[in-house]
Amino acid sequence: MSTILYGNEFAQQIRKELESVINERVNKGYRRPQLAILCVGNDVGSHSYILSTQKSCAKVGIEVVIHSFDEEITQEELKEKMIQLNQDDTVDAIMMQMPLPRQLSAQQIVDVMDPNKDVDGLHSLNVAKLYTKQDGMIPCTPEAIVRMLKHQKIELTGKEVVVVGRSQSVGRPVAQLLLNENATVTICHSKTKNLAEVTSRADIVVIAIGKAKTITKEYIKEGAVVIDVGVNVDEHGKLCGDVDFDDVEAKTSCITPVPKGLGPVTTAMLMENVVKSYKGRV
Ligand code: NAP
Repeated sequence: MSTILYGNEFAQQIRKELESVINERVNKGYRRPQLAILCVGNDVGSHSYILSTQKSCAKVGIEVVIHSFDEEITQEELKEKMIQLNQDDTVDAIMMQMPLPRQLSAQQIVDVMDPNKDVDGLHSLNVAKLYTKQDGMIPCTPEAIVRMLKHQKIELTGKEVVVVGRSQSVGRPVAQLLLNENATVTICHSKTKNLAEVTSRADIVVIAIGKAKTITKEYIKEGAVVIDVGVNVDEHGKLCGDVDFDDVEAKTSCITPVPKGLGPVTTAMLMENVVKSYKGRV
């Protein structure tokens, strides 16, 4: 029988720990941690993500300040704002909400950020630190995946892991983190031939492609662990993952549902990164 890996309870445990770290400092007279979110344009998905991040942060005592900009903002203007936030001692962490309009280069803007305030771990220095196994800011979703697997006491050493998706924010960093945990890791993408043949070899499959219900039981080995990163809307307007949950569940030993699987733990990791920076600053 498959275990469904709901993230809420684990996330709640992490939130409690963060809340007590914050309260301890606030009771000593220090300020609360602050996350600055930069948002360009009017993307509906971005706005709802920011509001839910703000709500979650408020529950543990993290202040969120949203800096909204017009779609027409230039690269230089956005960089200037980033420099101001770097220099502001009351700001512990910065998040550059993606996607950005086409005239802006996301990596160039992120690279202006103070790497110690880089809550999403996307600054080139933090990317390099991950690949050289140094302590830095780790992207939230990849960290959530590894922490969830460990929390569930799923052995990683020597396990065959297939990651489907090679994005900078999910696929590549999670593959690196799992490699650091001594798993044998294969990364697949849209040009991979015979994807089902590759994924059905895996003990653990991580799917981050952003395509609703693409992974069906033919892609999964009997008893495999399936981590579904995808957040999509299905034909009935309901949230769903990249995995066809109803088709795949019975074949797995563990599977994350969408919603309520990885999402809450990812948010907890974001807050953990804010508090990591805060602890180094107050
Ligand atoms: P992305 O930047 O669009 O990358 C998608 C990746 O999937 C690319 O590497 C692409 O290959 C690959 N791909 C697309 N279709 C494929 C197919 N049919 N077969 C094999 N590979 C395929 O997406 P992302 O930012 O990584 O996000 C992926 C999903 O995770 C989205 O649904 C997003 O909303 C969700 N997400 C969830 C969380 C969370 O906390 N749960 C956090 C972040 C993202 P190429 O490189 O060849 O184009």
